[in-house]
Amino acid sequence: MNARAIDSTAATGGDASSRLGRECFHAVSLYDPDSTPYEIDLSDNTNLWGVPPAAQAAIAAIGIETIARYPAPYASSLKQSIADYLHVDPSMIVTGCGSDDVLDSAIRAFGSPGDRVAIPDPSFSMIPVFARINGLEPFLIPLGRDGGLSASAFNESGSRITYLCSPNNPTGTSLRRADIDEITSNARGIVIIDQAYAEFSGISLTDLVDEHEHVLITRTMSKAFGLAGLRIGYGIGSPDLVREVEKSRGPYKVSVVGERAAVAALGEDLAWVGSHVAQMKLNRARFIGALERLGLMPLPTDANFVLVPVANAKQVSELMKNDGVAVRSFENLYDIGGAVRITIGPWDMMDRCVSALASSLQ
Ligand SMILES: *Cc1c(COP(=O)(O)O)cnc(C)c1O
Repeated sequence: MNARAIDSTAATGGDASSRLGRECFHAVSLYDPDSTPYEIDLSDNTNLWGVPPAAQAAIAAIGIETIARYPAPYASSLKQSIADYLHVDPSMIVTGCGSDDVLDSAIRAFGSPGDRVAIPDPSFSMIPVFARINGLEPFLIPLGRDGGLSASAFNESGSRITYLCSPNNPTGTSLRRADIDEITSNARGIVIIDQAYAEFSGISLTDLVDEHEHVLITRTMSKAFGLAGLRIGYGIGSPDLVREVEKSRGPYKVSVVGERAAVAALGEDLAWVGSHVAQMKLNRARFIGALERLGLMPLPTDANFVLVPVANAKQVSELMKNDGVAVRSFENLYDIGGAVRITIGPWDMMDRCVSALASSLQ
């Protein structure tokens, strides 16, 4: 078994010269994605069809004088809209400045310095960072290429917080329900299930929060709903659990503009979201066919991206960028090695991507 705690001095190459911050910050680097504008950006899994119409109209209709006042402290109208969308009670919803904020706040709410956070490897790269900046220890547990997880490795890790991501970023695979159930039933502390890509998979896990008081599901308006720039995310859990996350989060984390746009999108843009999810799936199948004709073997995916194992992932992504197409490269992923992660968008973008990828492999 390869489960391991990360050596916090070596892991991310943090700025060793900074000794003003807390000790647990020393190994943490600032998030540094390549933000050069490329003609076609397939690197961050946002909605490449853009912003849905009702959200656009809501933003345009905001009176400028509104901006001089604070928003509602815990975004009560947004909570109501999310509750209606998911058919749960608003007392089971916590919102945040992106789901990143909800994840960070939840780790801080339920973990004390020194506690372990169990995280599948590979998974969402921000989770070890949120663990560390709150003084907790990331503890990585291998995720099989087929999406299989060892429930016993999680249960034996002694973790206060368990993080699962389904569909998983960066692999795209959904976790098996049997693994989720077993890990959840035996977990010592809280279980966070990150469903940033739920709308693409069509698999809801919200029944878990009815059964278990210690489960928090997180979701976002940044992916299927096309609102990444507004930073809106949320969590679903038992009212007691949600209240603790809100204490940790603090008031006023969702802006007036973000709340109005998100409420509109959840009310009137569901058909837009659904039809673009359907279009994404068609393009994804067609794109996977094109990859296979190039001799590539992408991982099975339930999300709006595909992970494609390639030798020299860094070089492939650099060559593609020279061709105007940005994708995200990964090296040394557990059980996979090097790979590029490619967001699925309108077909003209995918067509350009296939050409750039094919010539990068020459
Ligand atoms: C994109 C993403 C998020 C964060 O999204 P926000 O924009 O902060 O809501 C969270 N988890 C995973 C797995 C993601 O891919």
